[in-house]
Amino acid sequence: MAAEQRKRNIVIIGGGIIGSTTAYFLSHHEKFNRETDTIMLLEATKIAGGASGKAGGLLALWAYPNCIVPLSYKLHQDLAEKHGGADRWGYRAVHVGQLDMYGILSKKKGPSAANGESVSLQKRTQKAIGLLRAAGVPEDLDWIAAEGVQSYEEMGTPATTAQVHPYHFTTSMAQLAKEKGVKIVYGSATNIKQDAGAVKSVTYKAKDTDEESTIYADTVILTAGPWTKTIWEKAPISALRAHSVTIRPTRPISAYALFTSIDLPRGNSRKSQTVTPEIYARPNDEVYACGEGDQLISLPTSTDLVQCDETRCQNIVDQVSSISEELRDGEVTARQACYLPNVEGRGGGPLIGETSVKGLLMGAGHTCWGIQNGPATGKVLSELAWEGSVKSAQIGSLDPRKFGL
Ligand SMILES: Cc1cc2nc3c(=O)[nH]c(=O)nc-3n(C[C@H](O)[C@H](O)[C@H](O)COP(=O)(O)OP(=O)(O)OC[C@H]3O[C@@H](n4cnc5c(N)ncnc54)[C@H](O)[C@@H]3O)c2cc1C
Repeated sequence: MAAEQRKRNIVIIGGGIIGSTTAYFLSHHEKFNRETDTIMLLEATKIAGGASGKAGGLLALWAYPNCIVPLSYKLHQDLAEKHGGADRWGYRAVHVGQLDMYGILSKKKGPSAANGESVSLQKRTQKAIGLLRAAGVPEDLDWIAAEGVQSYEEMGTPATTAQVHPYHFTTSMAQLAKEKGVKIVYGSATNIKQDAGAVKSVTYKAKDTDEESTIYADTVILTAGPWTKTIWEKAPISALRAHSVTIRPTRPISAYALFTSIDLPRGNSRKSQTVTPEIYARPNDEVYACGEGDQLISLPTSTDLVQCDETRCQNIVDQVSSISEELRDGEVTARQACYLPNVEGRGGGPLIGETSVKGLLMGAGHTCWGIQNGPATGKVLSELAWEGSVKSAQIGSLDPRKFGL
């Protein structure tokens, strides 16, 4: 029977950005017939409950791997245009810079500080403006403490860098896929059954009832991010925890994503400590900031069991507060943690494509660029599933079979 006449049963495991964009592109492919084919998106806990809902959301033409970055960057633009992404998921072009600072602002002192008792550095005085210009800081980046600036270097312009709100983007992709006929099921995959080297079915436990079900599948797409190994043990995907916060600044601030290096005075000792939080201004009157990763607590069984260390979140708040009054005197609106999916034994990632098991595809291990690379991953996986080969990019270097999968 010709492939196009065959009824297809496709199961995607994992509703983060990779699974959701895959569901989107599968369901928007011309070969999908919702009367005869089924596409199921199986999510253990909540769509975008992991890193895909808690990431920064920076998109950059200089991200990696370069075999999919330009495609994905363009698809983000197209999706935003087609579905009103500017309003729906905060898509916009941004400036990006590397900012080196001394953390000079003292901490907010109790609730009264926000009401005017903290000492203003008056950064819009002529002296402050002079300091900012001398360090090469752009004119509209006026929400950092001028006296603390060491240097500023441009890393991206609105022509090469953009951003989305990852939670809103991922949930919108899942919703748009659902509107095209994808069935979203809440349950945790426990087994992918194979027969004669080909996938046959997926067994899962329903989220609410724990009841076990098995669904026939001719194609299974594994997109479970850092949990990929728990479903397919030999997949070389590891997990790294990272904390982040969101802050409502005291006033609307300009569209910059900043990679920082901040020298903080350490107690009474003369030695300083250097910290490197990333700070992303977002269009919804929100600023996102994240710190470095840690391996103190291993990956829990589901996204809702991720432990958030309040001290690590407070450290991020203190670090960004030391360079910006607008952030220091703002309101912290979220303190959160999640796990980044890395590829073991290799600097880069991700692994995208067919495996040696017929009908088993994967898209996992997107490291710190999964938001940027989600759309291209979904697009190429949809081409593989419907057409049997990838048309939009050369993804040979990401082939899971190179890793013995
Ligand atoms: C602090 C931080 C900042 C980041 N900032 C950026 C950024 O600015 N730009 C960028 O491009 N990337 C960024 N990233 C990276 C990005 O967040 C990840 O690469 C991306 O979210 C990974 O998506 P995913 O869908 O593979 O995994 P996840 O988002 O982890 O999704 C996996 C899903 O699978 C589900 N699942 C797990 N097990 C099962 C099972 N057995 N059955 C069914 N479902 C299951 C989980 O519940 C989860 O919803 C950042 C990451 C971190 C940690």
